[in-house]
Amino acid sequence: MGLQTNVNSKAIVEESYPLWQFTLDATAIFVFLGYSVCYAHSLIVNYALLPEHAIPKWLELVLYALLAYVLADIVSGTFHFLADNFGNPQTLVVGKVFIRAFREHHSDPLGITRHGYVETNGANCLISLPLLIGIYHKTEPLIDYRLRFFLLVFFIAIFLTNQFHKWAHAETPPRLAVYLQNMRLVLHPAHHAEHHRPPFDKNYCITCGWMNPVVKHLRVFEGIKRLFGRE
Ligand SMILES: [Zn+2]
Ligand SMILES: [Zn+2]
Repeated sequence: MGLQTNVNSKAIVEESYPLWQFTLDATAIFVFLGYSVCYAHSLIVNYALLPEHAIPKWLELVLYALLAYVLADIVSGTFHFLADNFGNPQTLVVGKVFIRAFREHHSDPLGITRHGYVETNGANCLISLPLLIGIYHKTEPLIDYRLRFFLLVFFIAIFLTNQFHKWAHAETPPRLAVYLQNMRLVLHPAHHAEHHRPPFDKNYCITCGWMNPVVKHLRVFEGIKRLFGRE
């Protein structure tokens, strides 16, 4: 499927995962999950307290969830595109934590399968956490119910993105993952393999990949590259 590790490149990939980064990632995951549980609890409790005219229909909530999932796919693709094409691993703050991981992933696509749960999912939590906390405290459950529901689904989809990406590279993913991949509900390995063929400029979206054909058709990333003189 084209996802094998380039042995020569692998030799120069630094595998270290320092303790400070593990601690930071683990803390981010712990706080993110804590806030998500409080957030979901507030949605469940407040649903029953909504005035009758403000209660969203179930179909409406399904639609919001779908839109949030699609938005997460677009955001994952945009973030991935920026990390692959702008800055370098020495770039201040984001270089070591984010850019390096994406760049090394091209030369060692199986590296992600050797990462533990914390290393796989910590960076996404670090990015989402300030926004999640801000929205949780700055919006009102009874007034902004739909917005809060939409954003909770969005943040959870972002949280799951790197796990879906890891499953797309795994030689033996869990059965649930294979089922979801075959249903095309999460990133499919064959679809993602397109990204791992030089020049590594296709299928950047890595949550479910649904938006890749749309982004390709609209030539969104080519336009951004041209705008910054990268083409
Ligand atoms: Zn990439
Ligand atoms: Zn990949």
